Amino acid sequence: MPAEETTAAIVLRARDYSESDRIVTLLTREFGKLSGIAKGAKASRRRFERKLEPFSHVNLFFRRRPQGQLVFITRAEAGEAMPRLEDDLAKIALGSYMLELADALTSEEAEAADAYEVLARALGTLGGGAVTLAMRQSFELNLLRAAGFGLEFAHCRICGLGEAAGGAVYFVVARGGIVCARCRPQAPEGAVRLAAINAAALAALAAAPIEDAAILTQAGSDGALAIARFLASILDRKLRSVEFLDSLF
Ligand SMILES: [Zn+2]
Repeated sequence: MPAEETTAAIVLRARDYSESDRIVTLLTREFGKLSGIAKGAKASRRRFERKLEPFSHVNLFFRRRPQGQLVFITRAEAGEAMPRLEDDLAKIALGSYMLELADALTSEEAEAADAYEVLARALGTLGGGAVTLAMRQSFELNLLRAAGFGLEFAHCRICGLGEAAGGAVYFVVARGGIVCARCRPQAPEGAVRLAAINAAALAALAAAPIEDAAILTQAGSDGALAIARFLASILDRKLRSVEFLDSLF
């Protein structure tokens, strides 16, 4: 039998399977994203009770199987405290989006320690403070960087110059960053015009940990549009949680 392995993990999604089992997808600190089956999860209160729900931080114990994607989850211990989302609709909406985006930007069996770290800190921050657009944008930019997509909002992707205050810059999805007004003729049609102040806000949000989102400025609707366009270009599906979240802010 393969050895039991253990890691800190956050439950991204879970569903009942057959009479008594649960299939769970988690983002782990050590092993990237894992999906596993918890046999008898509904009956075994001692091993699993309420620990295999979305948002749960757990210490996961599992064994790999010789074949197949699903690992055997042998037990789960309570890890760090879960964020207290309570009945706060905005927190639940943003938290659900955080889980879904983390799921979409990671793949099974690929290392994802940075994404785990970003998600863990984001959920902790979400539990502690008010939900803001800056928090959402900070999460998106930090998670994108952890997934290998560091977006550039401080310097022109073509000439490298920082943009002087007052003008506008243009976010080009294919370049993963901005071009300045001078270089714009070299950029494709369809670039997102960003007020300089919003490009600066995005640069600050991208450079700071999410705990700082509460003291940073949000990047406004053009900033949100730039991030949304970039996400749409790399995701193969529309996220279920995004429409409701967009209706809130
Ligand atoms: Zn330029």
